[in-house]
Amino acid sequence: MSEIRKNLDELKRIAESPRAQLDRVLSEGKKAIGVIPYFAPEELVYAAGMVPFGMWGAETQVTESKRYYPAFYCSILHTALDLGIKGEFRGLSAVMIPLTCDSLKGMGTNWRFGVKDIPVIDVAYAQNRTIPAGEEFTESQFKKIRGQVEEIAGCKISDKALSEANRVYNANRKECLRFTELAASHARIVSLTDRALALKARYFMERDAHTELLRKVNDELAAMPAEQVKGKKIVTTGIIADSPELLSILQESGFVIAADQITHESVDFRALADETIDPVKALARRLNDIKGSSVLYDPAKGRNTELAQIAKACGADGVLWVLTKFCDPEEFDYVPAKEMLDAAGIPMLQIEIDQQMVNYEQVRTAIETFKDIL
Ligand code: SF4
Repeated sequence: MSEIRKNLDELKRIAESPRAQLDRVLSEGKKAIGVIPYFAPEELVYAAGMVPFGMWGAETQVTESKRYYPAFYCSILHTALDLGIKGEFRGLSAVMIPLTCDSLKGMGTNWRFGVKDIPVIDVAYAQNRTIPAGEEFTESQFKKIRGQVEEIAGCKISDKALSEANRVYNANRKECLRFTELAASHARIVSLTDRALALKARYFMERDAHTELLRKVNDELAAMPAEQVKGKKIVTTGIIADSPELLSILQESGFVIAADQITHESVDFRALADETIDPVKALARRLNDIKGSSVLYDPAKGRNTELAQIAKACGADGVLWVLTKFCDPEEFDYVPAKEMLDAAGIPMLQIEIDQQMVNYEQVRTAIETFKDIL
């Protein structure tokens, strides 16, 4: 038990101190490349012997980024850019910026102007990614990025190194998925904050190191009997749900996260790269297999079907839609999702949060009421 606590606390410490992690990497003489969401091919960075560093914003009040983005842009971009302008990412050799949503399309330009000491690697991939032409386009872009990463690393990335990176990332994805299942069945040991931070830590660590630490936690949890779930079981869905305030409100209300469809969490690690094909093609093809994120083109709204399936499979009492404020892709998905879940008889609550929020009383009231309804 104390060993689990020790390892969960270590993951928490890492998740809560990204700058210290970056300093450690730099002091070891390694190079690091920032990775802004979503789904950038960071395996190329790992394969080049450098360290990818996740940049999903932070719980902070912004000042500088308001000169570049209007106040009504999402907090992930605001806070990431703000920290960049304030020098919080000094030492990164570059930053990968995908062009996934409309707001992200302006990020590269804003970053180039506001953070002159950290060059940008644009990451384009096909929105219509499942057709052959889409896959071919994505593959061609990833090959271009491979060249840019090689230039920064000062060495070539061999196919063997990239295949190994895919293997390392797949191993990490499997361990993360296993952890979400074990955390749900051991909710008295793994708090909702433990769960979120243990997953978040992977963005600031070499993935093999994260896998090793998480595996120790998983093995110990697996050796313990599963608990009888006391509280209400929910599935969370959205872009990101690591707000400490939100998690503590859910914890106090006795909710257990039985599964999630959060892009920052399971959506990112449910899809594996095919280890039997060309490693760049495998990266492009993995994008085809990623489901459940509003930022990827999904005309049939398969996200909602998957959400209902996840909720049914884990016996959830309801779904919590964690809407990132000012996120258009999430807002567009909400209405069809609500209709589908209503038809399936699955209750859903939508709450709106962002990383600059200080008052959660409305969220608390909504969550407590939802618990009473369930
Ligand atoms: S998808 Fe939403 S949360 Fe993510 S960058 Fe775009 S607007 Fe912001």
